[in-house]
Amino acid sequence: MKIAIIGGGITGLSALHEIEKQRSEIGKHIEVNLYEKGAELGGKIRTLHREGFTIERGPDSFIIRKPEMLSLVEELGLNDQLVKNHTGQAYIASSGEFHPIPEGSVMGIPTRVAPFLLSSLLTSKGKIRALSDLWLPTKQKEETDESLGLFFRRRFGDELVDRLLEPLLSGLYAGELNELSLESTFPQFRQMGDKHRSLILASRSMAKKRQQSTGLGQKSGLFRTVKGGLSVIVDELEKAASEGTIHKEKQLQAIIPEKEKGYALHFADGTKTEADEVILTVPHSTAADVLPSLSVGEEMKAFPGASVATVAIAFPSTSLQAPLNGTGFLIPKGEGGSEMLKAVTLVHRKWPHLVPDGHVLVRCFVGRPGNDGIVRDTDETIVEQTLNELRKFLDVRGEPLFTDVTRWQRAMPKYTVGHQARIASWESVLADEYPGVYVAGTFYRGVGLPDCVRQGRDVANHVLSGK
Ligand SMILES: Cc1cc2nc3c(=O)[nH]c(=O)nc-3n(C[C@H](O)[C@H](O)[C@H](O)COP(=O)(O)OP(=O)(O)OC[C@H]3O[C@@H](n4cnc5c(N)ncnc54)[C@H](O)[C@@H]3O)c2cc1C
Repeated sequence: MKIAIIGGGITGLSALHEIEKQRSEIGKHIEVNLYEKGAELGGKIRTLHREGFTIERGPDSFIIRKPEMLSLVEELGLNDQLVKNHTGQAYIASSGEFHPIPEGSVMGIPTRVAPFLLSSLLTSKGKIRALSDLWLPTKQKEETDESLGLFFRRRFGDELVDRLLEPLLSGLYAGELNELSLESTFPQFRQMGDKHRSLILASRSMAKKRQQSTGLGQKSGLFRTVKGGLSVIVDELEKAASEGTIHKEKQLQAIIPEKEKGYALHFADGTKTEADEVILTVPHSTAADVLPSLSVGEEMKAFPGASVATVAIAFPSTSLQAPLNGTGFLIPKGEGGSEMLKAVTLVHRKWPHLVPDGHVLVRCFVGRPGNDGIVRDTDETIVEQTLNELRKFLDVRGEPLFTDVTRWQRAMPKYTVGHQARIASWESVLADEYPGVYVAGTFYRGVGLPDCVRQGRDVANHVLSGK
């Protein structure tokens, strides 16, 4: 069997790793090759080392609540390189002030009543409305998907949604809560609502169970990276691969069915190869482009993706005063006249090992759902506007030591209502029209690094099982 994996991001590399791991046990001849269009592997994982700073241009860490990425790191023998995030307080900027995210919030849902009641983020009326989740009846289980916004507004009212849930969750899924799918983003919330009367009680019991099974308290850091940055994991995956299996600067252009069986893969450099099974871990629009006669191609191309830019700004410690002792803050839409700045991480607090002594590093997320035109501007404009907006929140004195802008165009998939059903129907069309071709990765069944590792492993096992 000849397997081709297209895309050398974490999904493709995980699929390759799994196939190579299982191959020796299967006892039949399996040839596997991975093709990546760029000169580097890693996809959205991009670590930059500059003037003593380690800068993550894409993801900066992975959550350990979902175990797949942590298991992969352990399998690669990187346990002693793992670093836990410093947990300091995270804030929401609202009405010109920083408000701590209430202690005991799980994805923004309060699980402890006292800190929530004492929080300065919400008005008394907003708090009472949010706590009414404790006595509101649950709705009959809906057969169809619904939006996160509708679901949360029904349980908690508008204030908690607008001031806490929206800034927290829309950053993760790059969309407005009113358009994001509950089923595809937080299916557990839907199930909780089915089993428990109240989401607050259900979240509390879930947090307790997790605490008992992992031994990690609410204040323990739930995120991990490795000492030299996430690219170290990519490098280890590359080293673990058999010689000659990874092919860089190979951009796939078309997958054409062969007469007998299998496919011919045509690359942009004019070369061609064959494969029996093809795993596509590329964006949905690229998948549609390389499958010229796929009947759902146009639908796949129309799948929405949001654009963001990450802007890393380095200063000497004396040049930046943060009126808070936390690891960063989120900015709700319209707060402080902020048009495009969505979130700010104080990297020197969250990951001190990445920043040299005597310096600070802020990482800004720029571009909002429906307002991401800034991402297409020049670096100079992006930096200038980011600094202008940053000055509304922090005391910035003097000029930065350096800045680094990374654009992510249409790179954040929007899992809108009905996403899961849409993906299932595309997969079934794909199985009919291009049997042996599969899709996996961030655009399909989960956006976080652990979700991508899981998808890479699952698709690899599916292909190997011959189902
Ligand atoms: C700014 C940002 C911050 C994030 N932060 C976090 C975080 O902190 N934690 C977390 O868990 N997740 C985070 N994510 C999400 C996470 O980074 C991604 O979901 C994940 O890296 C996607 O991996 P992937 O392999 O599915 O896709 P990608 O990384 O996009 O890889 C796809 C690969 O396919 C290649 N390719 C494309 N077209 C072709 C072609 N025609 N032929 C050959 N190769 C091709 C591309 O070059 C690329 O290497 C973040 C994402 C972004 C953008």
